[in-house]
Amino acid sequence: MGKFRDRRWRLVVAGAALLVCTPRFVAASAAAAEPTGAQPPFRLQSLGHGVWAAIATPHGSAGSNAGFIVGSTGVLVVDTFEDPGAARALLAAIRKRTALPVRYVVDTHYHLDHVAGNGVFRDAGAVLLAQRNVRAWERTLNLKFFGAKITAAERRMVQSYVRPSVLYRDGVEVYLGDRRVVIEVLPGHTGGDSVVEVPDADVVFTGDLFWGRALPNLIDADTRAQIASDEALAAAHPRATFVPGHGVVGHAADVRAFAGYLEALRSAVAAARARGLAADALVRAAAPGLRSTYGGWDYFDHFIAPNLLQTAAELAGKKSVPQPPPAGSWAAGTP
Ligand SMILES: [Zn+2]
Repeated sequence: MGKFRDRRWRLVVAGAALLVCTPRFVAASAAAAEPTGAQPPFRLQSLGHGVWAAIATPHGSAGSNAGFIVGSTGVLVVDTFEDPGAARALLAAIRKRTALPVRYVVDTHYHLDHVAGNGVFRDAGAVLLAQRNVRAWERTLNLKFFGAKITAAERRMVQSYVRPSVLYRDGVEVYLGDRRVVIEVLPGHTGGDSVVEVPDADVVFTGDLFWGRALPNLIDADTRAQIASDEALAAAHPRATFVPGHGVVGHAADVRAFAGYLEALRSAVAAARARGLAADALVRAAAPGLRSTYGGWDYFDHFIAPNLLQTAAELAGKKSVPQPPPAGSWAAGTP
């Protein structure tokens, strides 16, 4: 815990907010004078049928949402938080509810706030699964969140994250006894994003393709693809409960509202670009209109400027997003 708190302090002091835009750091900057260790890392929310959402508390150490699904022969965990201590708390919460083994973990994507607790579950005997790019990116692309002043200890931490060992390209189905879990790859947030669907409970864990009443981190996003993925999810699961990667649990209307934010963002950026605006001038012109509709969503003040600038780069065809490793590297086992 202390290590993470120190890291956040240093980054907040350094004003590195544009690089480090996981909500954990937002919470730290919003409450810089408060101790952060007092809150539990997450609030456990029962979705019925043995499916649970672990919703990150605003100032706790989890940094993202997670969850778990209990079947007749074992448990599948979705994401492992930003902090191993929070992951241990999740494992303890599972142990209170079932004696069945934790057989699987799915990393919805590579971002550090979803994978840093992987080792806790690997050590408990779980097999870690993810879209295959996640394994290639987890120990490399996460370095960028620390900025140019990354310390040697931070570098070692990222390079020691426990990576998934079972990889898929488009998706996979897992049976927990007679309970079927469908893992589907959809584009938009990073280029290696999985959603975890529990058909018999009508629950969908979306990773960061959907944020619940919150502005998203778009650092790696293809917003056009993300809108299409969200609309497809809402259409395919009209009565489902959706567990977002960040923010509150929602339904199809909330997923559509989130896609609506991305649409509004793209429209505002396109209009500003059409007036020849860029950089700070673009932000000043486009932010107020979005604030009138979305100003009450979490992280608005933190993410609105980077959302606008990153979308401007995307619309200009100048945004760099994560690239899959070369095809041959898979056979060699190097990713
Ligand atoms: Zn993410």
